[in-house]
Order: sequence, then C-alpha cells, then structure tokens
Amino acid sequence: MTEKAYEMTVGLEVHVELLTRSKMFCRCSTRFGDPPNTNVCPVCLGLPGALPVPNLEAVKLALRAALGLGAKINLESGFDRKNYFYPDLTKGYQITQYRTPLAQDGSIEISEPKKRIRIRRIHLEEDTGKSIHAGDDITTAGYSLIDFNRSGVPLIEIVSEPDIASPEEARQYLEKLQRTLRFAGVSDVKMEEGSMRVDCNISVRPTGSTRPGVPVEIKNLSSFRAVVKALSYEFERQVAALEAGERVVRETRHWDEAKNVTRPMRAKETSEDYRYFPEPDLPPLVLDEAFIREVRDNMPRLPDEIAAYYTEKLGLTEYDAQVLTLDPNLCSFFEKCVEKGAEPKMAANWIMGEVLGYMNRAGLTYEEIPVTPENLVELLELIKAGTISGKIAKDVLVKTIETGKSPSVVVEEEGLRQVSDEGELLAIIEQVIAANPGPVQDVRNGKEKAIGFLVGQVMKATKGRANPAKVNIMLKEKILS
Ligand SMILES: [Zn+2]
Repeated sequence: MTEKAYEMTVGLEVHVELLTRSKMFCRCSTRFGDPPNTNVCPVCLGLPGALPVPNLEAVKLALRAALGLGAKINLESGFDRKNYFYPDLTKGYQITQYRTPLAQDGSIEISEPKKRIRIRRIHLEEDTGKSIHAGDDITTAGYSLIDFNRSGVPLIEIVSEPDIASPEEARQYLEKLQRTLRFAGVSDVKMEEGSMRVDCNISVRPTGSTRPGVPVEIKNLSSFRAVVKALSYEFERQVAALEAGERVVRETRHWDEAKNVTRPMRAKETSEDYRYFPEPDLPPLVLDEAFIREVRDNMPRLPDEIAAYYTEKLGLTEYDAQVLTLDPNLCSFFEKCVEKGAEPKMAANWIMGEVLGYMNRAGLTYEEIPVTPENLVELLELIKAGTISGKIAKDVLVKTIETGKSPSVVVEEEGLRQVSDEGELLAIIEQVIAANPGPVQDVRNGKEKAIGFLVGQVMKATKGRANPAKVNIMLKEKILS
C-alpha cells in the first residue's frame, strides 16, 4: 500500500500575543526582553486577594482580529477558569473563554488549492510565565528558572476547523493568518519571539473513510518550517503504525527540532481534565454595537483588499500583489513610489527584484528598507530617460544604498551615462569588428550566435554603458551591408 491510501486531517490552534502596552488583567508592562521577573504584580503573580480587571485595548485588538478574519462577534461572552497545575502558572488556573468565545465562525482563504479554511472560534485569554530549563535535561541539571514577565500577557487563541489536508495547506493558512493579524495591527506575530505559537492536531485515516482517525496533538511549534516538517513526519509515523496493524495513541507530542522527530509528551487532556467553571472574579463581557462599529471603522486596510487594489487599479499581477502585501511597510513604500510618479509595474519589479534581493542578502527586515522612495523613483526616471541601462541601474541602486547619494549624483560621479552618441558607439563597434574577424565571418555566414558574442565585446568595451539592443542593430548593419 502507498501513502496515497491514507489522508491527513489537520486543525490548528494558534496563540497570538496582542500588541498592548499592559497585561490582560493588570497594569504591568508587556515589553519583551526586560530583565526576568521585573514586570510583575500581585494580580499576575496570582497572590491571594488580588482581583483582575480586563484590558479594554486587548478587547479592541481581539475584536479587530475577529473582524479581519470575518468572524461573527458574540455581544455577550465571558471568562472561565481553566484549572491545571504547571510551575509557570502561579494561580493554578488560567483565565480564558471556554463557554462562549469572543467570536466564532470566521475563515481564511488559501490559494493552492483555492479553499476556505473555517475558523471555529477566537477567544481571549492570558499567557503563562516562561520556564527556562538549565541544561537540556531537567533531571540532570536539577533546576529550572521561571520568568513571570509573560504571565498575564493578553493572548487570543484562533482555533481552525479540521479543514486542512496537507502540510502545505497548513503553511498557507498560517502565512495568511500571520499577514492578516500583522496588517490589522493586532500583534507583531513574531514566531521567533513567541508572540505567535502553533499547536497542530493531526489525525490519519484510510482515504475516503468516514471514521475519524485518532487525534494527536503536536505542541508549541515555533516556525512554519517546523509545522510543515512535524506534520509530514507525524503523517508517516501514523501511516507506518496503521500499516503495521498498531493502534495510534491519543496523546500530545513534542517536536524535536534537532532530530526531526516527534516524541510523546503526555496523554492528551480532555476538557474534563481542566474542570472549567465561570470565572467568579469577572462579570460577563458585554459589548455594544457602537463599540464594535467604532473598532470596525478604525480597521486598517487588510492584505486581500490591498492586493485587489494593486491588481485591479494598478495593473499588477496576482503574484506581484502577493509579494508586496507581505508587509505593511513594503506596501507603504511601494505606494509612496507610485505617488511620486513611478510607473506601478516598473516600481513593483524593482522593489521585488533588486530592493528585496539586497535586503535578503544584507539580512534586513521590512522595517529597514535601505533606500528612500525618492531615490528609487529617481533611479527609475534615469532608466526611462535612457540615461542609464537597466543593468547599470542595478549597480547604481547598490551605490545609492551604500553611500546615501542620490542616483543622479552616483551616475555623474562614476561616469555611468549610457553611450548614446552614435559616433562614439560606431568607433567602438569598428574596433570590435576589426579585432574579431572569425566571429564577424560567422555572422556573414548566418550564424546567429556569433552576433551575441560581438554585442558582448562592445558592452565590455563600454563597461556596460551601451544599449545592447541598439548595439545589436548597428553591428548587423555594419557587418551585413
Ligand atoms: Zn501584573
């Protein structure tokens, strides 16, 4: 039997930290990277008698996320206690929304295959502290350190329906989710800093079977690559087990990044294990229509809307629009170029090719675009006017980035103007013809390839400053007439 005989069903639970300045139920700072245990108080340490007060800004951001994901908002939701013991959870419970979430029934559309992944619920909760194990193995290191700065940071959890059928679909869903939340200003969604974390639920069954497979959860994946690899590994592991006639155990597993395997962590909890009950310290969360309308009216533009504008109004391709809407800063950079007179398709090509290429090589983030819109627009004008060739323009861009000088200044200082004087070009062409009798004879004999060689020689002699199309025509005229 082949693996095609089995199919996977995947649902994702994504935790996202909200971009608030203070925590979910107290005024402590949420700043990442502060010295351990400096942003704490009786509320987020769970000291007796401390009472939680919900953060209005967190509710607003969660609403934005829900609206951005097309979910239905529940005008009345509430908070519940999820009881479990874990060293980084001082209260012995987490405040979350169990009975009624803030929002439900949203979706995300992925493109390959074109498919809508349903979102079951979006709820608010608080983060736990962070354990730092000294050494790899707690039993040999003997101790763990706990930082409570993260304890009580506002989170939303976004739970998808099990509509995902491959690791690649999971990647697309997460990528789109991350993009939407970033544009909506909900979170900085940095997987490397833990502000976006993913749990996967995967089950495997014979293709077409109506009986669901046994769900296995893979916890705390910290990159899209890890999600793809962990799902692929887990699929093969479960297929092998089913083929061998073994039972797949319902459990929670951990992804071992170094060894590329999943390992059992614990038996999977069920909701009974958590003994949920309504949080007695908080009243129900009641929202009015006016508040929701205000959040809706202040929604930033989302990637799908921007991409549609780029393709329909600015004439970009679907692909261009997808790349430019990777990040809000990239969009605003592109739009400034267009505002300053750049032709949209040409600006898009240069941003996606040369500017992003440079940023990749230099390891720059989207917050660090190394050239100003003014300078890029000036460079494009120099190309359009025929002052420099596209090829030379690439070098000019790098010099502009590295020196901060404007493209025109670079062109003048380095003498990079295109040779457009026919007399000057003709003299060079005659030299090249005289120096290469063999290839010239080949051209006369109808060998097309030889002309390319001669064009190359002229380009070399002009240090790339000639227009190759023009050189091609002039060479042929000179040789064949
Ligand atoms: Zn606090």
